[in-house]
Amino acid sequence: MITRTPKYYDEFKCIASECKDNCCCGGWLIELDEATAEYYRTLEGEFGEKLKSSLMTDEDGDICFKLTDNRCPHLADNGLCSVCCELGEEHMGVVCKEFPRYTISFSNVTEKGIGLACEEAARIILSDDGFLLTESGECFESQQTDIAKDEQDWQIAEDFEEEEDTGWIEEMLSARNEIFAILSDRTKTVFQRMAEILQFSYDFQEQINGEDGGKRQSQEDFTEEFDVKGNFELLTDIFDNLELLNDKWQDVSVLIREKLFKGTDKEAFKDALHMSANDIGGRVFENLMNYFVFRYFMKAVWDYNPFDKIRFAVCSCIIIWEMFTAAQLKKGEALTDWDMIQLVKIFSRQVEYSEENVEAVCEEFLFGDDFDVDRLIAMVLV
Ligand code: SF4
Repeated sequence: MITRTPKYYDEFKCIASECKDNCCCGGWLIELDEATAEYYRTLEGEFGEKLKSSLMTDEDGDICFKLTDNRCPHLADNGLCSVCCELGEEHMGVVCKEFPRYTISFSNVTEKGIGLACEEAARIILSDDGFLLTESGECFESQQTDIAKDEQDWQIAEDFEEEEDTGWIEEMLSARNEIFAILSDRTKTVFQRMAEILQFSYDFQEQINGEDGGKRQSQEDFTEEFDVKGNFELLTDIFDNLELLNDKWQDVSVLIREKLFKGTDKEAFKDALHMSANDIGGRVFENLMNYFVFRYFMKAVWDYNPFDKIRFAVCSCIIIWEMFTAAQLKKGEALTDWDMIQLVKIFSRQVEYSEENVEAVCEEFLFGDDFDVDRLIAMVLV
């Protein structure tokens, strides 16, 4: 069994009491795996009673901690987890132990990364100086089985039992390597690289579907007739229509509409996007693209839709670009690293930590032409 991670993976350590937005106060129910809940039920004494009385079953039948004022009831005033302090890390639930890490397994490989929903992980991801993957040959077989069993909804749950076509997995890995190679070519702007990746993954999808994409319009002709600003707004609507998981999303969405769409003409809109892209620099978007590609692309091993995974990656970067731009216009000066960390965290907590929300975005791509390859290329080359 091979374990593959981005090279920054081991840099992550929870900063606990230093954290300004502790995940235990995210307002989301904290799910417990059956084995951990079972163990808690056997505990006696004051802490055991407190633990048992904090358990509840949510509407999906999952066992969770009952929140108090939107916080985990076991988060102590000093910002530390009292379950960890009293019982040791080994007795924390899988979700608590793993967050903000995610896992995907296929063939004999387990890939693990850290997610943008945590400010410390986001800091590490955004400041990466060049995306590299590392591999270790340790056997994680038993751990992998536990993860598959216990983290069905909150992490990338895939069917480990399913028969896998190793030739297809190799093809997917080689396509992903090509995408990483395109992303690393800094002789082009990051937006040109995104356009190239869109084209590459579209052609790859056509090849899988046994179709020939045919001759496409030149981008210059296409961009002339296409309402790019309208499509940015349409994309914002899609993300706005998702189930609301993070209240801060609403404020950001209002800001985007106010600063980017209301009363701005086409040129002012483009100028604002260019201004923030220049101030932010290509590296941040390159790091975000690498993150989304690593996290989502290989999920196409199961649904044969690699182009959708790239569309999700690019559209997520576009929405984050809108968030950065609107925030910069409000602030009146370039964003700091900390500002960007806060914004990507809002995006991630609203979108990525709900499998339904990620799927809902991808479904929008499947039905309709608004986000076909031409329109998306025109958007990134706005
Ligand atoms: S959000 Fe990250 S750094 Fe903060 S408490 Fe959670 S895991 Fe730790």
